[in-house]
Amino acid sequence: MENQADWHTIHPENDPHWKGLTVNQGIQQPPNVNPYAHLRPKRKPLPTAGELVEGILKGDTTTLARAVTLVESMQHAHQAIAQEVIEKCLPHSGHSQRIGITGVPGAGKSTSIDEFGMHILKQGHKLAVLAIDPSSERTKGSILGDKTRMEKLSVQQDAFIRPSPSAGSLGGVARKTRETIVLCEAAGYDRIFVETVGVGQSETAVHSMVDFFLLIQLAGTGDELQGIKRGIMEMADGIVINKCDGDNVERAKLAQAQFRNALMLFPTPASGWTPEVLCYSGYYGLNIDMVWDMIDRYFDFVKLNGYFEQRRNEQNRYWMYETINEQLRDHFYNNPAVEQMLKEKERLVLDNRLSSFIAARDVTELYFKNDLT
Ligand code: GDP
Repeated sequence: MENQADWHTIHPENDPHWKGLTVNQGIQQPPNVNPYAHLRPKRKPLPTAGELVEGILKGDTTTLARAVTLVESMQHAHQAIAQEVIEKCLPHSGHSQRIGITGVPGAGKSTSIDEFGMHILKQGHKLAVLAIDPSSERTKGSILGDKTRMEKLSVQQDAFIRPSPSAGSLGGVARKTRETIVLCEAAGYDRIFVETVGVGQSETAVHSMVDFFLLIQLAGTGDELQGIKRGIMEMADGIVINKCDGDNVERAKLAQAQFRNALMLFPTPASGWTPEVLCYSGYYGLNIDMVWDMIDRYFDFVKLNGYFEQRRNEQNRYWMYETINEQLRDHFYNNPAVEQMLKEKERLVLDNRLSSFIAARDVTELYFKNDLT
């Protein structure tokens, strides 16, 4: 602490010449309250890719969780390890049923996943539940929620539950989830759920990484099909109407008939499989086996007609282009000269002093010149 004599030279504001402003002398800071703090173990060094892969292949969930954290990390050092781990896990992946589950908030996704999951575990499978939450991109909040919502599953040894990666664009979040699937499969999880909220673009992302896409619907009042985007219905391999219990049974059956009629108007999907519409109750555990029987029949059907392989191959191609697009975008927006020029051009465009097309051309030209020389 400064002594009294230095006080004025250090803080000239305290000179009587300046009115209305004083800087008070600080107080002596107490010593560190924890005298043993320096003895605390240092942060663990980053694991090597080899260590992680070894743990993952043994099915060790702590190692798997650590590796997923690296996959989700934005740091370059973490990404480098993560990419190596993914590459080494790839030959051990692919042997699972990947199932996408979507539905509006309140449709009963978590309640149902809890029941579906327990049903699957009873059959002797290992289940990983992943999520893609599109809301985190814009609001940094989440619709799916970070709390553990699957009470029964979350205490099961054979279930691995992971909330949505939070940072980045939807494309980035989806890519991380897709990479996490690879790690989970290598760790022996032979059933993978990818959950998302049926409110935006995220269904397309989930659809591009699963073998079966399940749409959870509710029986409401009035026209059931209102407000459901045609695109989502076309993506669904199965539609299930939840909360078919108590005095809701009649309405659920009515909704079932309406969905069936609507689906008849769609052309037969590329899989050759006609999507089925079933009623069940996640809360009371009714007809869960019927839903699962449908999913099993789907897998038998598409494995026999070759569509299973075809869809996975197409997904691989899709993800190759997605990854290229994402990396190009990152490289472009992280270029300091581009960042600087973008700020200037943006202002001019906002002030109506420059057309958006010319601004875009100027910035991309700068990037190409910068990049190629
Ligand atoms: P999510 O937002 O889609 O994950 O929906 P939740 O699983 O959190 O369920 C929303 C609400 O619906 C909760 O209050 C559940 O108890 C209730 N719910 C879920 N499934 C059923 C069901 O099969 N029948 C009834 N009656 N209620 C249900």
